[in-house]
Amino acid sequence: MRKLASIQTVGEILPIEGADAIEKIRVLGWWVVTKKGEHRTGDKVVYCEIDSLLPERPEFEFLRKNCYRPAITAAGQTLLPAGFRIRTIKLRGQVSQGICFPLSILPEGTPTDDGTDVTAALDIVKYDPPLPASLAGRVKGTFPGFVPKTDETRVQVLEPVIARHRGKVFYMTEKLDGSSVTAYLHDGEYGLCSRNQRLDEDDLDNGMCRVAKDLSLREKLTETRARLGFDLAFQAEIIGPGIQKNKYALKEPRLYFFNVVDLSSRRLLDHAQMLELLSSLSLLSVPQLGTITLDHSVDQLIELSIGQSVLNPQSPREGIVLRPLKDEDDPDMGRLSFKAINPKFLLKYDE
Ligand code: AMP
Ligand code: MN
Repeated sequence: MRKLASIQTVGEILPIEGADAIEKIRVLGWWVVTKKGEHRTGDKVVYCEIDSLLPERPEFEFLRKNCYRPAITAAGQTLLPAGFRIRTIKLRGQVSQGICFPLSILPEGTPTDDGTDVTAALDIVKYDPPLPASLAGRVKGTFPGFVPKTDETRVQVLEPVIARHRGKVFYMTEKLDGSSVTAYLHDGEYGLCSRNQRLDEDDLDNGMCRVAKDLSLREKLTETRARLGFDLAFQAEIIGPGIQKNKYALKEPRLYFFNVVDLSSRRLLDHAQMLELLSSLSLLSVPQLGTITLDHSVDQLIELSIGQSVLNPQSPREGIVLRPLKDEDDPDMGRLSFKAINPKFLLKYDE
């Protein structure tokens, strides 16, 4: 699981040109702008990465002015509590990602070994943007445990992982900024899910269910199951009107697929097999950006994430996702797959 808040040791500290009161400090693969002299190399801190939603507590109140997000509720249920969202900011030309606190904000007795996950101890959750009402749909249940949830780890926390896989070929895809959709066939049962919930697939007032129906996902899953001989799931990003400001300027919602999962082994189909399958089913894949032989630093991968969207060249892309051609596990992170988010995108859209 992803650690949003963890104990980390401050690395390099560098001045920021033209700024006397602030400096930048290295934590994992991130740069964080802080008050000058507040930290020294080797200090232990609580580091919270971007997209952390910090609870409404006195020690975080100073964030209210810039970071407050009201609760997200639906049908009387709280999907996300109110809190303070940590975003990417730019200070004196320097990108700053995440925030550091002294260990004293931790509840008594919390372990403070390097790398300790303190996300739960601080009641921090991941900020996920709300789904527009037009796509939220009637909920049928929770996201099923037999399908892996979609998520991608940020490259900034993966320095050791990158070093371990140096020399390996990775394929790159454009990361699209929409919302996650999963369609599966399991023990003869078809299901359709948004990021965290199972939807009523017959609720055709819901845009997500309509697109799935237009694409005949149920029939395509059934046909593929018969051909391959195992249960499977298709996972895609839905983008379009009403979703994440429709950065791709689409007129209709569309699905771009990035995973085909063998549910019997929980493994992804190999890259080539996935592309072939999607194309034979007339389903779109996320834009393919070619391959690299991994020999990059975190900063170089971030550099690589900068570019325009293939789907809308007027717009910066959200970033890139990198994976080996054949699905594999890394001992530290589980499935080897990660994202590098384009800092220009984060700044432009204030994320
Ligand atoms: P985030 O949106 O930051 O939570 O990053 C993870 C999510 O990116 C996944 O859950 C997917 O829904 C989404 N995503 C968008 N484009 C891609 C892609 N090309 N490859 C994998 N995931 C993607
Ligand atoms: Mn997203």
